Amino acid sequence: MRKTALITGASSGIGHEFAEQLAQQGYNLVVVARREKLLYDLKRKHTDVKVTVYAKDLTEEDAVEDLFKFISEQHIPISLLINNAGFGDYDRFDEANIGKLQNMIDLNIKVLTDLTYYFGQQMIRRQSGYILNIASTAAFQPGPMMAVYFATKSYVLSFSEAIAHEWKPEGVVVSALCPGPTDTEFFDHADMKGSSMMKSVKIPTSKEVAAFGLEQLFKKNTVAVHGFLNKVLIFIGRFAPRNVLTSITAKALKK
Ligand code: NAP
Repeated sequence: MRKTALITGASSGIGHEFAEQLAQQGYNLVVVARREKLLYDLKRKHTDVKVTVYAKDLTEEDAVEDLFKFISEQHIPISLLINNAGFGDYDRFDEANIGKLQNMIDLNIKVLTDLTYYFGQQMIRRQSGYILNIASTAAFQPGPMMAVYFATKSYVLSFSEAIAHEWKPEGVVVSALCPGPTDTEFFDHADMKGSSMMKSVKIPTSKEVAAFGLEQLFKKNTVAVHGFLNKVLIFIGRFAPRNVLTSITAKALKK
């Protein structure tokens, strides 16, 4: 029997690539995002596997519970959950739109936590399963001008490491993928095309990042930082005082 992967944010960027690559590996898919047409494009392209489209804004009230109910009623056993949907915002905290920040916390933290809870419990009952949570290299330090986004990704990293430890004896593998800047729509949605980081760094494709994420998950690595330079910077960052790290990040994020 084919295994099924549930991917949030599968309509574009890294999530779309996860869907492409898992379909090529023979996984059936449940793909979730708001842009229904892009999800149906995936379904039309991958006729050799079963692609279930679930078009929804996951931050709406009861959206996660409704998704879980829908999948349970369809009797689809999810063996791989990818919590990928997420976004950032580039602005000084006091000048940002509080509604957008609250929505970001809902998506990046609450939705990810709730989905992990519901599908993780099922996986524990089956004594097998894989969960890939998309954090970021932003998880490793504070991010002036993106304060809330960086904090949400620190949560994803810490949360994933903790439950990876709790659930290891249960046969459930949990990994946090930490990409650095990656070529997706992320920077349009975060209004940060003009930041100095975007001008100075050559950034990888979502295809490379998704392939790395899946490889590391199946190798059961709990924390997967993409890119040699990112790994080096995070290693060096461990020895720097927090205020120095914050100032360096502020410079990298400056317009
Ligand atoms: P992206 O192309 O903007 O993808 C974001 C995905 O999330 C889209 O499929 C979007 O689909 C979905 N989404 C957004 N809001 C949603 C909502 N309310 N309900 C359901 N789905 C929603 O950006 P990406 O770079 O691939 O981002 C994927 C993940 O990687 C995010 O968690 C991001 O924080 C993380 N990340 C990205 C980078 C980077 O540099 N790109 C670096 C590190 C980490 P719809 O618009 O159709 O809903």
